[in-house]
Amino acid sequence: MDIVNNLVLVFYFFPAVLVLFYAFNKYQKHNRSVKKLEERLAAKQDVPSSLHPDFDLSKCIGCGACVPACPEKVVIGLINRKPHIVDPSHCIGHGACRLACPVNAIKLVFGSKTRGVDIPFVSPSFETNIPGVFIAGELGGMGLVRNAITQGKQAVESIVKARKKARKHQYDVIIIGAGPAGLSSTLGAMKAKLNHLTIEQDSFGGTVAHFPRGKIVMTSTVNLPLVGKVNIGGEISKEDLLKKWIAIKKKYKVKVNTGERMEKLEMDPQGGFVISTTKGVYKTQAVLLTIGRRGTPRTLGVPGENKTKVVYRLEDPREYQGKHVLVVGGGDSALEAAHSISEEEGSTVTLSYRSASFSRAKPKNQDKINAAEQAQKITVLYKSNVKAIEDNRVIIEYQDKMHEVPNDAVIISAGGVLPTPMLKDLGIQVNTKYGEE
Ligand SMILES: Cc1cc2nc3c(=O)[nH]c(=O)nc-3n(C[C@H](O)[C@H](O)[C@H](O)COP(=O)(O)OP(=O)(O)OC[C@H]3O[C@@H](n4cnc5c(N)ncnc54)[C@H](O)[C@@H]3O)c2cc1C
Ligand code: SF4
Repeated sequence: MDIVNNLVLVFYFFPAVLVLFYAFNKYQKHNRSVKKLEERLAAKQDVPSSLHPDFDLSKCIGCGACVPACPEKVVIGLINRKPHIVDPSHCIGHGACRLACPVNAIKLVFGSKTRGVDIPFVSPSFETNIPGVFIAGELGGMGLVRNAITQGKQAVESIVKARKKARKHQYDVIIIGAGPAGLSSTLGAMKAKLNHLTIEQDSFGGTVAHFPRGKIVMTSTVNLPLVGKVNIGGEISKEDLLKKWIAIKKKYKVKVNTGERMEKLEMDPQGGFVISTTKGVYKTQAVLLTIGRRGTPRTLGVPGENKTKVVYRLEDPREYQGKHVLVVGGGDSALEAAHSISEEEGSTVTLSYRSASFSRAKPKNQDKINAAEQAQKITVLYKSNVKAIEDNRVIIEYQDKMHEVPNDAVIISAGGVLPTPMLKDLGIQVNTKYGEE
């Protein structure tokens, strides 16, 4: 009889337990979204810097389909049954939210009403308003690995069509940047037998090479010139994707001048362009800019900054075990780098920032740094300036005195210099978008 009673109880109460569980789960998700949105507003973080969703709340029916549709998972949160961008730093413009919306309440836009985003004018053949200067990949506004690869290939096809047969210049085309767009355009130039040169300020692979360790890249099968179809569809780890690209680079003998930065792009009065880099000056008939939108890391301009122990982004905190590390900067990436290195065994971390507080960073990161400082894992030097980087120490000006700090490695996280001023100097038309498609 007891068994029958228990079964009846389960029969009656199981749905109620399920409903309660569902409601509790929803309540928790709502609270998490509210907290993330509050953090975003406190850190004065605006919308994502590239293409991102804009929600028409008058059309939105609050179904929440856009939230799990985003491959990055953390970007959109539902608050009072309406979607909000709660973590803009993770939005990379997949656009999956727009496809998931059953009532067409999402459009993808650049910038916001208060913050404009500069997008260079690019014709359907990827040429700017300056004949001979082409742009492909994320710099032109369209993010994602697949788009960058497709555009790189198409831009070279346009350059081949526009090429003047008589060769007057050292190069037919110089490609700047070796991310996915740069890789596919270099392969395209090889296929078309163009006399070309590819220059990369950092290492081969572009932004993908600097994704966090183990990051899952969502992309699809692509078609690379010379190579044909490359199956990278669905989910692939950053490491596996890079392995594929490096294998292609080796097999097809793709040449990239890594560690060489373009510093100036000028028109040559005799026709074509002159490109000045950190290693030389070149003349070319056409230029293909595949430099993405992340710019060039801002340097400190202090003696010793060219030492190999100085880097501009954290790749893997484990490299810093047992080392004395200086992190420079006050934004989220500086705070995240300092905190993760301080967790490594035997490390000591000094965090130098020129301002009096970390007001630009997320409160969560500020709290972590405060806790690490109290636990004496990090020394924070507010209102300080790095004056010199030497082999075994750094010189930091702090409270009107020079301090010598033992040092094995330096990470400078002082933001990036965007390429837009250089484009404008050359006369390339740049449109500022305020929440527009
Ligand atoms: C955290 C994160 C996660 C992402 N996840 C995904 C994902 O899952 N799926 C997806 O499809 N996309 C993803 N993206 C977006 C994707 O990485 C970019 O859209 C893509 O890399 C753009 O390719 P690109 O070749 O145009 O530019 P980039 O990959 O940015 O390459 C530009 C290259 O140009 C170089 N360069 C810049 N200036 C100069 C100069 N003056 N001289 C010489 N070289 C220069 C840079 O060093 C860089 O190597 C993600 C982006 C980020 C930041
Ligand atoms: S998918 Fe569309 S309708 Fe549903 S919550 Fe998102 S924006 Fe609103």
